[in-house]
Amino acid sequence: MRQIYFFSEGNKDMRDLLGGKGANLAEMTRLNLPVPHGFTITTEACHSYQQNSHQLSEALKLEIDHALDRLSASTGKKFEDESNPLLISVRSGAAISMPGMMDTILNIGLNDRSVIALAKVTDNERFAYDSYRRLLAMFGNVVYGINEDTFDNVLTETKKAHNYQSDLELTTADLKNIVTRFKEIYQNEANKVFPQDPKEQLLSAVDSVFSSWDNNRARVYRRQNDIPETLGTAVNVQTMVFGNAGEDSGTGVAFTRNPATGEKKLFGEYLLNAQGEDVVSGVRTPESIETLRASMPEIYDQFAKIAEKLETHYRDMQDLEFTIEHGKLYLLQARAGKRTPAAAVKVAVDLVNENLINKETAIKRIKPESISAMLHSEFAHKALERQHILATGLPASPGAASGQVYFTAETAKNAHDEQHQKVVLLRQDTSPEDIEGMVVSEAIVTSRGGMTSHAAVVARGMGSTGVVGAHALQVSYANKTATVDDTVIHEGDWISVDGTSGHLYLGQLDTTEANINDDLSTLLEWAKEISRMGVYTNADTPADFQRALDFDADGIGLTRTEHMFFKPERLLQMRRLILAKDADGRKDPLAKILALQQQDFYEIYKLSAGKSVTVRLLDPPLHEFLPHDDKEIKLVAEEINTTVDALKARIDSLKELNPMLGHRGDRLAVTYPDIYQMQVTAITNAAIKLNQEGYDIKPHIMIPLTNSKTEMKWVRDVVEQTIRKILIDNDATLEYKIGTMMEMPRACVTADKIAEVSDFFSFGTNDLTQLTFGYSRDDVGSFMPEYIAQGILPNDPFQTVDTEGVGELMRMAVDRGRQTNSKLPIGVCGEVGGDPKSIRFFEKIGISYVSCSPFRIPVARIAAAQATL
Ligand code: ADP
Ligand code: MG
Ligand code: MG
Repeated sequence: MRQIYFFSEGNKDMRDLLGGKGANLAEMTRLNLPVPHGFTITTEACHSYQQNSHQLSEALKLEIDHALDRLSASTGKKFEDESNPLLISVRSGAAISMPGMMDTILNIGLNDRSVIALAKVTDNERFAYDSYRRLLAMFGNVVYGINEDTFDNVLTETKKAHNYQSDLELTTADLKNIVTRFKEIYQNEANKVFPQDPKEQLLSAVDSVFSSWDNNRARVYRRQNDIPETLGTAVNVQTMVFGNAGEDSGTGVAFTRNPATGEKKLFGEYLLNAQGEDVVSGVRTPESIETLRASMPEIYDQFAKIAEKLETHYRDMQDLEFTIEHGKLYLLQARAGKRTPAAAVKVAVDLVNENLINKETAIKRIKPESISAMLHSEFAHKALERQHILATGLPASPGAASGQVYFTAETAKNAHDEQHQKVVLLRQDTSPEDIEGMVVSEAIVTSRGGMTSHAAVVARGMGSTGVVGAHALQVSYANKTATVDDTVIHEGDWISVDGTSGHLYLGQLDTTEANINDDLSTLLEWAKEISRMGVYTNADTPADFQRALDFDADGIGLTRTEHMFFKPERLLQMRRLILAKDADGRKDPLAKILALQQQDFYEIYKLSAGKSVTVRLLDPPLHEFLPHDDKEIKLVAEEINTTVDALKARIDSLKELNPMLGHRGDRLAVTYPDIYQMQVTAITNAAIKLNQEGYDIKPHIMIPLTNSKTEMKWVRDVVEQTIRKILIDNDATLEYKIGTMMEMPRACVTADKIAEVSDFFSFGTNDLTQLTFGYSRDDVGSFMPEYIAQGILPNDPFQTVDTEGVGELMRMAVDRGRQTNSKLPIGVCGEVGGDPKSIRFFEKIGISYVSCSPFRIPVARIAAAQATL
């Protein structure tokens, strides 16, 4: 098995074998771009390493030897060569990009002798020792696990002692001294010496990269992002080019478009006389790429052309890493750039308009879940009016969030997990070690670093709010404080973070939902064209429905009428109704409720503008409407003109041991038909009235909790007789449909029969899940988390449909229902109707439409489109 490929031998489609970084280095080499020579050790070699009890095999070592010879032949450089010493970087890279998760070592090949050679051939002793100290720090950290801070502290101390502001002021003598002290650190911290043999350096580095696949932070990232553990990483070995060779050299990162907004404009940062991670680690504040246009116009132009070429080639926004050595440009990495949800939408739409991708590809690139972040992302303008801006940083990742401040990932995570706090992680800067704390944070704030710093990249990737480089903040980890002038923020204090403006505020601010912008509407229109399933909304009020219509819902899949009863004046009538002794006593409250409901339906139908509206008749147990505590009971007794004792006795008589399995849904219709008759009257009257006004309303009436054809038929007759009578009385006509909720397992099993008397089905997945599992939905909190933690359940079946059990019942109901009526419309309402994973399953079993809360509509629309692709 071949375990090494030179960059000139691979291409972008070899990601699985070469990893993302390796495949793209190969592709750029193929495109004749200036990429330093090198080779990739494959992910298969990583697998062999894992099987070979975490050791490099002899075969691989031999292959590495050959590759080094070949590299020497093509570059003219050799390890420890007096006149042309070979220096290389060792860079990890898995098939899926995992920013900052794995480790990189630069300047391998340097030792006490070759550093002198390098100084001599470059005529730059400072540069040679700067490179050596970097190698010692990176190697010590990656290979021997010595904390980075131990090395950083030496630099900080040296700068402090000489009163230097920046690393650039370190002299050759300082750097030589630092090298000596770094070697002592090896001795003190790890009881090791730095290996002088370049080959040994290289092999240890490769070994460490392979084993870093299994380090904790990489595992967390993979879990977080559903990346399979089995992928493994490749290792890239590449000839060094030097951004730290002087003021005509530098290193930088750039996106071909703005990763926060999607704007089509080169966006990036660089540092002169710097190497590797200097730009992203925030040790010095980088310059914007714009200034490169002024300072090195030729390099800028060359880079801009390459950026455009790569973007067109890959047909996606690129994130590029480059280095300039003595006025010559090199490309070190290309990958699809991480972006905010808003940028993802804009870039996708723009690329379609630029004819680089088609609509389907645009839709495929959007994570449905991320759309919801775009819809909840601003502080209420009112809340901001009188707010004092505490500090302003770079707007790294848009959104608005408030939380309690923590200064370490660990304390943030504990506060979140154990005290269920909303937390904001506030740090000088972040590193991959902080990932677990970042995941749980509402927002991430740093006092240092630029738009491409670790904190900024991770916040954008996770869609969380982020502000970086808020220099006014003095962060003290020791005191657990952040200070701005004379304001001190302590651990646990609330702050509010605006990732769109970069502003920070003290306290907790109200947020408002943002509206759908033009790009998102365009994308949603395309999604609508592409998807087979409709996307309806669950809406109980005209305001909900209006919002759903703004999101272009296809109609209402579920209006729950019980919510209409909870307004105070209605609740009173409802209670009079329930507490009445007989049908006679119910007449007056029913008449009053009828008038109110009719008005509700009138408004909703009027809004619907031809879109279908499905009204579900009364569902919950009556007990829910009754007063519970003594004070309330006393008030109600007065209101309805009875004694407290009499009222209590009636309440007791309505109590049930298992109300959710009790007297509710269509069971109420059988015992109190006048309630459903009233509701149907309200619906019919409202529809007739609107149709007289020139509308075209066709009511869809839905019966909850149906168990059998006979039961459905019984309730349907009540409903239909009511409608017919009103139509005759008014000499009117009306098209209507009467359908059923599918939420009882028995109904699913007998769906072929129920379909004989039902014009449509709509799955109530909440009750169906509850009854299929036998889990009381209101009580699962006590055991569900443990079931998920132990892997007994893959996820909460109330959030994502359980395809194996509940889903199978649904499939059966769809198949059997359509045996009877091949055109039977079948919807899904309930929580999972807006869940992308569930939507994929619904597409497979032939569901006609999903219905979800208004804010989930854009998410569901994208998911429905993706399900067809
Ligand atoms: P990451 O995956 O964390 O981005 P990389 O392997 O890309 O790690 O390395 C980080 C940085 O190190 C690069 O952006 C680049 O600046 C520098 N680097 C890596 N290899 C070389 C090289 N051969 N010459 C010069 N700089 C390099
Ligand atoms: Mg890195
Ligand atoms: Mg990189």
